[in-house]
Amino acid sequence: MEQLILTAFLALFALEFIVEFGLNELNLRHISSCWTAKQLPELFDGKVSLEDYEKSVQYSLANGSFRRWHEIYDRVVILFILFGALGPLDRFAGGLSQSLSIGSYSQGILFCLAVGLVLTLATLPVDLYSTFGIEARFGFNKTTIGLYVTDKLKGLILSLVFGVPFLLVILWLMDQMGSAWWLWAFAFVMGFQLLMIVIFPTFIAPWFNKFEPLKEGELRERILALAGELGFKTSGIYTMDGSKRSAHSNAYFTGIGKAKRIVLFDTLIEQMTTEQGLAVLAHEMGHYKMRHIRRMLVVQAVFLFAGLYVLSLLVASAAFFSAFGLDPSNHAALVLFALISGPATFYLEPLINRLSRKHEYEADRFAAITLRDGKPMEEALVNLTVKNLSNLNPHPWYSAYHYSHPTPVERIAALRQCPA
Ligand SMILES: [Zn+2]
Repeated sequence: MEQLILTAFLALFALEFIVEFGLNELNLRHISSCWTAKQLPELFDGKVSLEDYEKSVQYSLANGSFRRWHEIYDRVVILFILFGALGPLDRFAGGLSQSLSIGSYSQGILFCLAVGLVLTLATLPVDLYSTFGIEARFGFNKTTIGLYVTDKLKGLILSLVFGVPFLLVILWLMDQMGSAWWLWAFAFVMGFQLLMIVIFPTFIAPWFNKFEPLKEGELRERILALAGELGFKTSGIYTMDGSKRSAHSNAYFTGIGKAKRIVLFDTLIEQMTTEQGLAVLAHEMGHYKMRHIRRMLVVQAVFLFAGLYVLSLLVASAAFFSAFGLDPSNHAALVLFALISGPATFYLEPLINRLSRKHEYEADRFAAITLRDGKPMEEALVNLTVKNLSNLNPHPWYSAYHYSHPTPVERIAALRQCPA
């Protein structure tokens, strides 16, 4: 049994790597050959200069080449933690909690924190190179070293403030609720998620960015008119100083019910005309109106439910622990499960992305119909593509697997089919 678990894991782990690596190679080759043939998608002809096209090709190639290395690096890290670090960290946490004598779940909490710390430190070089290497080279990075360090420290404080009580409750439920613990854990995680959705916009996000009500003017008037027309309740429209960290632009909705906020990045307002900005917001309101967000939450809940059920079976099996050389415990089960579930859930990614792309088409269509004109949405897409140096020629398999949004070409073609 032990051997079977280990073999199954290693096979899935290797397969995931081969698929990821192979898709990236296909994508890199496709981008290069399209560039050599100067094969700009027809819909972008005359809208993107050769200079911008070249820049986007360089950016995509830089990211893809880097991905090659960090796909390998990430796996080495996971294998090292699984087979080299978990055992010693568990013993260390056990020893420390005994000498400090700080309650029955302290070993579990210390163990999870230690693994979290090792993972964070191991991913730091990848994160640093991506931010200060690639993003900086293409003019996107605006983060200073000081801001980067402060962000990391704030993240650490948040994960302690929310993570420790969260873990404590989960470990307590596993310990006290018998074989039905996972149903209780499911209810708790769902409640916790809901709480985070409520407190994120008002307490957490402002710690990282400055939010100001969108200043009076045409854009504000028209967004409010649009929201009124669609019966979309919101507690306010805000601008966020996204330019503090990156030149990439975005807009999003946050919160639930009447407390929903509309947030526009200052970079988006700067880069877009009023018409285009309005189209982006109409698209976002479309997601709400068509209950896409709720549907995605339901999908997530189903996965969480299934995942916790599987964990409840594994935690009861001694072979699961011995396969990875660990002593059976609830905290070891949690960490092991988190580390090894990647290669198993990896195959669900294209399915979820497919659903997400369907939602994007629907929201685009909603925007075109609401504004009685598909042009502004189309222009906004071209604008975003050029400003963000998005890949104009992704390999179809790569985008089908990894893209949560259809490619701009696919979206524009669909928009032109709209009756509006
Ligand atoms: Zn969308």
